[in-house]
Amino acid sequence: MQVAICPGSFDPITVGHLDVIERAAKLYDKVVIGVAQDANKKPLFSLEDRVKFISNSVSKLENVEVEAFDSLLVQFARKHKARTIIKGLRAVSDFELEFQMAQVNHYLDISIETVFMMASPKYAYLSSSAVKEIASYGGSVEGLVTTEVEIALKEFFKKK
Ligand code: ADP
Repeated sequence: MQVAICPGSFDPITVGHLDVIERAAKLYDKVVIGVAQDANKKPLFSLEDRVKFISNSVSKLENVEVEAFDSLLVQFARKHKARTIIKGLRAVSDFELEFQMAQVNHYLDISIETVFMMASPKYAYLSSSAVKEIASYGGSVEGLVTTEVEIALKEFFKKK
């Protein structure tokens, strides 16, 4: 049983994340989406909401699970008996930080490999922060996130 972890803060999940998750689900027996609390990043959505948005987005993918974690990523991977961490790479700018994180995780647990998946060209520009910025100025994020997330973003910025 080959298990892979797709970690991130998913604040909120975008179609770019979903593309990587769907592709990973075709390659591995099981994919566990690890949702990091990421208190340092001051997330816009609560951990519960981020997990809910993801769960509703992947409900049709039978071999995909979602779970929040507040530990080292390698500890979360070991808990799920996963030997692979999947990260999406959009641009060279992603590379430096991802390379460093992969090396730290390799130092922490040599049996766990980080595998990089190239972003699909059509989503290479897409990030959670871009989506939040667009929504904060009243722009349309239709097609970039699920309808549920689109509505939640509208609600959030209406209240502000
Ligand atoms: P972000 O960098 O948007 O804040 P996360 O921290 O939630 O996103 O990232 C989780 C993972 O998803 C990372 O490996 C990131 O590189 C990847 N990712 C994010 N957006 C995309 C995209 N549009 N295409 C491919 N991978 C992506």
